[in-house]
Amino acid sequence: MDQQYVNSISQEERGAVKNKLKIITLSGTESVTKNLTVYEYGEDIILVDCGVGFPDSDLYGVDVVIPDFTYILENSHRIRGLFVTHGHEDHLGAIPFLLNQLDVPIYTSRLVQGFLKERLSDKNFKHLAEKTRFTLLEPGTGTIQAGVFKITAFGVNHSVPNAMGFAIETPEGTVLHMADYKIDWTPVLDKPIDLNSIAKYGQQGVLCLLSDCLNVLTEGYSKSESSLSNTFTDLFESNPGRQMFITTISSNISRMSQIMTSALKHGRKVVLSGRSIEQSVKVARALGVIKFHDDLFIEEKEAGRFPQGDVVYIIAGCYGQPGSSLGRLSRGEHKEIVLEKDPIVIFSADPNPPGVDVAVERVMSAFTLFGAEVVYSRIQDNLHVSGHGTKGDLMTIASVVKPKYFIPIGGTITRMRAYTNMLGELGVSKDRVFECLEGDTVEFSSGRARKSGRLQTVPVYIDTAGSGSTINPVVIKDRDQLSSDGVFVVVIPSKDGNLLKDNVEVVTRGFIYVKASQELMDRSRKFVTKTLEKMSDKPLEWPAKKKRLESEIQDFLFKETRSSPLVIVHALNV
Ligand SMILES: [Zn+2]
Repeated sequence: MDQQYVNSISQEERGAVKNKLKIITLSGTESVTKNLTVYEYGEDIILVDCGVGFPDSDLYGVDVVIPDFTYILENSHRIRGLFVTHGHEDHLGAIPFLLNQLDVPIYTSRLVQGFLKERLSDKNFKHLAEKTRFTLLEPGTGTIQAGVFKITAFGVNHSVPNAMGFAIETPEGTVLHMADYKIDWTPVLDKPIDLNSIAKYGQQGVLCLLSDCLNVLTEGYSKSESSLSNTFTDLFESNPGRQMFITTISSNISRMSQIMTSALKHGRKVVLSGRSIEQSVKVARALGVIKFHDDLFIEEKEAGRFPQGDVVYIIAGCYGQPGSSLGRLSRGEHKEIVLEKDPIVIFSADPNPPGVDVAVERVMSAFTLFGAEVVYSRIQDNLHVSGHGTKGDLMTIASVVKPKYFIPIGGTITRMRAYTNMLGELGVSKDRVFECLEGDTVEFSSGRARKSGRLQTVPVYIDTAGSGSTINPVVIKDRDQLSSDGVFVVVIPSKDGNLLKDNVEVVTRGFIYVKASQELMDRSRKFVTKTLEKMSDKPLEWPAKKKRLESEIQDFLFKETRSSPLVIVHALNV
């Protein structure tokens, strides 16, 4: 826990804390992803969602970013449960990392449970699979009591089936938590959003609405997922006999279901390519969320034996991930699939997800160079509909719920402000909207709300491919320095505890081209020798000496080249 934050609560306030509801947007209000909200009343805490974020391209070797769990772990004895709204990575992906440190009961839908159990079967998390406690919470399963909180689920629409909102009854009033949602009257695998229940809560009085705000900048109402079914039919009809790849996000079960329906109609077998897609289809089929006969599917390794016009590949990697099935295929490095002449590659995914456009472009270019036709949203309409409500959807929900206060979530700082402005059009004054940065706390007492401090949080970097452990920010800084200015290594031979300052070796990579810079290398060596001479009369221990040398060499190299390579000094016993 942030010490400052704790200390800022006086003894008197500590007594009064029991009578206040606190909502902490611990993570997920500034960068769309890694969602995690904390609800607190007295001694009770519940958590809603616990997702991962995706690293910027300059975070070398970082696979995912997870929320800072410090506050949660320091209050672990007060946590009554984790409630999960839907099956997207940025809402559930960090749960295994939390479970590694905290045993917390999980309340969620059958589909999310299926995804999580599949995830916990991974070798890094197997020890958690048995002991994790799941309780079913879906629309119609009743109300869960967790400490003072009473939580009821209601259905919303999104790009993964069975997405939910939560009505959270607290002693201060009812809060509606509506993470990612849209209004879809003709969804593919779901029921339409339960506007009836939402309106009932509105009539009874809602203290605060936490609402998705991601697509507030898009005017009008969102399109229905089922509006895409003709798109797939057209694509199958106009490309008979052609090798066909369709990529989408692995959790978009509805989208994949539509592709499977079209494939069945047009006599193509479905090949699921990529672990994430295989896993989510496996879970959805096992739970009966999608119902197709085994006959429709063939294994990836069998697919090469079929005429390619008789199969369709649903393939992972729509965000251009280099290690994904699609990424490997684009570079001709796929072990099972061979590209035929004139294939068609269809991107049925968000055309502009933050931070991935360069990677997507790279994959598209590789396919284009090969001679494939690449089809995506910007050149063909109706390849993707968003799972997030646009301005019309968000206005409808705000008007039906008519809460006293609003907290936009799941967006960015810009989107939060746009949401506030949208509410302004509905006559909601700014003092009723709390735009919360990550760690911000809103406190509700006697029906009134105010911001009350911020927890200092730091993003936590995870290397899932390696050890699955966290990566210290110092390592990230080193990698950044290595990538921009390279490394400069100084080796000083040492005999019987004495440094042989006249035999210094220097080696460098990624800094300067050595063959063309012999003169600088010589001067560097001399500089090290001279610095060692200067230091020889000082009784410094080796670690201190090493640190000082590294810093002086760093300064020398910067003066010479205006670059700052990572400098490493090493004493070698000879
Ligand atoms: Zn989502």
